[in-house]
Amino acid sequence: MPFKGVKHILYLTCNNAKFYYMKLLEGKNVIITGASRGIGMGIAKVFADNGANVAFTYSSSEAPALELEKELTAKGVKAKAYKSNAASFTQAEELVANVLEDFGGIDVLINNAGITKDNLLMRMGEDDFDSVIEINLKSVFNMTKAVQRTFLKQRKGSIVNMSSVVGVKGNAGQTNYAASKAGMIGFTKSVALELGSRNIRCNAIAPGFIETEMTDKLDEKVVQGWRDGIPLKRGGSPDDVANACLFFASDMSAYVTGQVLNVDGGMLT
Ligand code: NAP
Repeated sequence: MPFKGVKHILYLTCNNAKFYYMKLLEGKNVIITGASRGIGMGIAKVFADNGANVAFTYSSSEAPALELEKELTAKGVKAKAYKSNAASFTQAEELVANVLEDFGGIDVLINNAGITKDNLLMRMGEDDFDSVIEINLKSVFNMTKAVQRTFLKQRKGSIVNMSSVVGVKGNAGQTNYAASKAGMIGFTKSVALELGSRNIRCNAIAPGFIETEMTDKLDEKVVQGWRDGIPLKRGGSPDDVANACLFFASDMSAYVTGQVLNVDGGMLT
């Protein structure tokens, strides 16, 4: 049975046997790109459970986004869905301005929005290369630029970029996706070096095979073959990735920057 999300850190005092709960992101304002489904939605829920106010984006899935907004708000935090194309520099700037106005500040940025347009290089069109680079990689530049001033002013901020094991290892049929995800790792390490002196941290997560709508499109036999080849013998869940994000977003990782954490059931071991 997979571990289902870190809800709280639990403290037990020995003298009076009282339980204390500490929510790891209490009062922090977070932006998550692409949270209308899949991993992003998992992150939004785990973050709200940990006391974060969640501003999140979607590209076209308005109904699920509004549904999620309601679900998060019911957990007692502030939550708002924004339609915003992460690939657009202008829309990223507008989004951050709106979030600052609505939430009063930003502490954490999770660059999660992403797409695939898989094909063998021989058959891959220019549009399929460009759109994957723009949505997966340029979006990270857009959003990081947009929050940079706020983070610099407050001398604090945590950025988490959703890369992939494919960006670490490469994958046949995914030259566009692998290039975008490898690019995110170089971007992450450079931002960590550039902004570390201002207490701005930047880390990346490299999920392996996480079972979401993105992977639902794949052939079940192929998918089972992948599960069998993973040391932990299962695909990951959005919660598995959300828990790693929670660590990077919270002060638990205050001395961690420029790192890539594989969340892959041991796939790359
Ligand atoms: P998903 O289920 O397809 O969800 C993608 C999310 O990104 C959706 O909320 C989508 O919004 C949003 N999005 C797409 N294009 C956008 C754009 N231009 N601007 C703003 N938002 C946009 O994907 P997922 O499996 O959760 O993956 C999330 C991230 O993890 C991606 O970066 C992916 O590359 C990475 N990842 C996934 C896996 C995996 O096995 N699933 C493995 C490694 C890495 P709409 O619903 O409105 O389209």
